[in-house]
Amino acid sequence: MVDPVASVDGLRDVRVTDVVVEIGEHLEAMPGEEMSDATGAIVAPGFIDMHVHLREPGEPHKERIETGTEAALHGGFTAVACMPNTRPPIDDLAALESLLGLLSRRARCRVYPIAAITRACNGEEPCDLRALARAGAVAFSDDGRWTRDSRALAEATHAVRDLDVAFISHCEPEEAAIARDLLLAQASEKRWHFAHLSTREGLEMLRAARAQGLPVSAEVTPHHLLCTQESALEMGAASRVNPPLRREEDVRALREGVRDGSIDAFASDHAPHTLVEKNGGAPGFSGLEVAVGAYAAALPDLALSRFVSLLSANPARILNVEGGTLQRGCPADITIFRDEPWRVDTRAFVSQGTCTPFDGAIFPRRVIATIVGGEMRYRA
Ligand SMILES: [Zn+2]
Repeated sequence: MVDPVASVDGLRDVRVTDVVVEIGEHLEAMPGEEMSDATGAIVAPGFIDMHVHLREPGEPHKERIETGTEAALHGGFTAVACMPNTRPPIDDLAALESLLGLLSRRARCRVYPIAAITRACNGEEPCDLRALARAGAVAFSDDGRWTRDSRALAEATHAVRDLDVAFISHCEPEEAAIARDLLLAQASEKRWHFAHLSTREGLEMLRAARAQGLPVSAEVTPHHLLCTQESALEMGAASRVNPPLRREEDVRALREGVRDGSIDAFASDHAPHTLVEKNGGAPGFSGLEVAVGAYAAALPDLALSRFVSLLSANPARILNVEGGTLQRGCPADITIFRDEPWRVDTRAFVSQGTCTPFDGAIFPRRVIATIVGGEMRYRA
């Protein structure tokens, strides 16, 4: 068991109901209890993917809540945060409440909605962030676009100045956007999270901001940790993604950023499309089912406790949601994985989106079980 928050890294048994009941070295099953043997595997707090596009409402031909959240379970994720750039976008109370209704009926894992910062993510008119946060939005982002109007953004942060919610910057063009958002982060005193960091320069700016004590965090995707412009050439039109695949030196810098703690979270930016749309240039990849293997392939030397933190405790902290640790009384959200090579086969995807740079790749780590609230929801 590896639980960095609880400083656990060793052989343990864990007894659960819907919450963690007991952790010990040699627990005995009691009458009526069911036992699962995870010998040789690693038991970790449930993984959280904080950047996912579930495509509903509005685009069920790309992904449905059922398929997206089932893909999450297959990928080892007990929870995902979904982005607001749906049709309609999640930019008012009615849209958020309707989404929460859909999720409660159809989601297979936990889903935390992220709401828009501005109406229709147009970067101009702020949403009612206070009402959205009260109704269950865990963070705010104009995903797909960078919020251009600084005044609208400043107004938005002011509306929730006393609430512990993060703003997620979809920083494109990367360096200019990060520079502006760091200034706002300083002025607003809100926590600021940078989505899918992709360049060495962007990473340097974040390091500098962190050194000054700004409350900033960042995530990196599997494709930005493993693919370059050269991989993009091989893939053709299907390689389109925002931000684009970068230089070899960026990939190296991002890996270093993970190792030295400058990057806090792994996030897939799961962005499913149909193959016709992909070949027409729609940006994004299907990421949930390959993410864990890809992170391990990119960073084979990363300590297991750091690997687990980037997938559990850190995203939980950034989103200010439960989970991220398996201490007594916490929800029994558990991911079990094993270091064992496996080959990616998109024909076996449960996500409706099958475009990924990793079809056929051999990854060194695979998820073998995903448990949500004490219930085994996926078993390889
Ligand atoms: Zn996104």
